Amino acid sequence: MLTIQNNIELKNKTTIRLGGVAPYYLCIKEAKDLLEFQNIETKLSIPFKILGGGSNLIIADNSLYSELPFGILDIDINEKPIITAITKTAYPLPPLAEKILTQNKQLFSVSVGAGYKIPKLLQLCKENGFTGLEGLVGVPGRIGGAVFMNAGAYKTEINDVLYSVTLFHKQYGLITLSRENFYCEYRKFIPSYQHTQLTDFIITNVEFIFPVIEKHIVTNTIKENLITKKNTQPVNAFTAGCAFKNPYNEKGEKLSAGRLLEKAGLKEININDMCFSPIHASFLQNKGNGRTKDALELLALAKEKVSALFNIHLEEEVKLWI
Ligand SMILES: Cc1cc2nc3c(=O)[nH]c(=O)nc-3n(C[C@H](O)[C@H](O)[C@H](O)COP(=O)(O)OP(=O)(O)OC[C@H]3O[C@@H](n4cnc5c(N)ncnc54)[C@H](O)[C@@H]3O)c2cc1C
Repeated sequence: MLTIQNNIELKNKTTIRLGGVAPYYLCIKEAKDLLEFQNIETKLSIPFKILGGGSNLIIADNSLYSELPFGILDIDINEKPIITAITKTAYPLPPLAEKILTQNKQLFSVSVGAGYKIPKLLQLCKENGFTGLEGLVGVPGRIGGAVFMNAGAYKTEINDVLYSVTLFHKQYGLITLSRENFYCEYRKFIPSYQHTQLTDFIITNVEFIFPVIEKHIVTNTIKENLITKKNTQPVNAFTAGCAFKNPYNEKGEKLSAGRLLEKAGLKEININDMCFSPIHASFLQNKGNGRTKDALELLALAKEKVSALFNIHLEEEVKLWI
């Protein structure tokens, strides 16, 4: 079923609590509703943004516009996961399953809707001993957003266990892509179809393949990662995760954006109620009444200072809907 609402404030739909009023807010619970969405979008002739859990977004608010120039499509496809033991696969295996192939470990397929929440998937992994996503503990988004962003932490990322992705594309309708038709980069999922790279796609369902290990190992790794995360990141504050991607230096070594920002003195700077977190300088934080204008000013200032001091260009990891 597709629902339509008008004039919905987006602030509380994002973890950083920034966002103005969207003229149209559509929500779908099933992939087939996308055909209806397509008709509505054509009739309204305004662009729509695809919303997951809102944990990686900075959205314009009334410090920039009185009403947002786009509508929102909330992908809340939340069907119960389907778990299947597998012996043979039709498509290429994901990297983790491929790597342990010689170890004789049992493999399981888990299919979920794009609206399924990451913490719920991790709970399922703990209960079944599915390994591969332990690094994603404390990441608050949904599976669709996590695949779109190729979310990762603690040396793991979604790509490690990603087997197939079903997505909707205006030209091709609903298509299921295996690893022959997509690849992932740092915080990026890149699908293609009929030799054409796709943009403007909507992820509806995802199938993972997990190797099974002892349940207590999965549980303990998740527990340890959570302790580290809580000690090093502002997990309970209003943020959108890391504002910037970690850059590379001229030798090709990955640097920490947080450390560069800290060295550039960004931890000491506030603009009204927005600041960089005192716990981790790459987390832009809303202290309660922050505005998008202030967030953008801080991002620009951070890029300027890091460029001037270290000659390094920082690129936003958060998506800006401005
Ligand atoms: C406290 C905190 C900790 C975090 N830690 C991490 C971390 O360790 N590692 C990490 O990688 N990220 C982290 N994040 C960032 C964020 O949680 C992840 O990027 C997450 O995967 C985003 O998912 P989401 O559903 O919230 O996506 P959203 O924020 O809703 O959207 C992000 C992007 O994905 C697109 N999108 C969402 N759903 C779909 C869909 N179904 N089809 C097509 N496009 C879609 C949106 O259009 C947007 O461009 C953290 C965030 C917070 C607040």
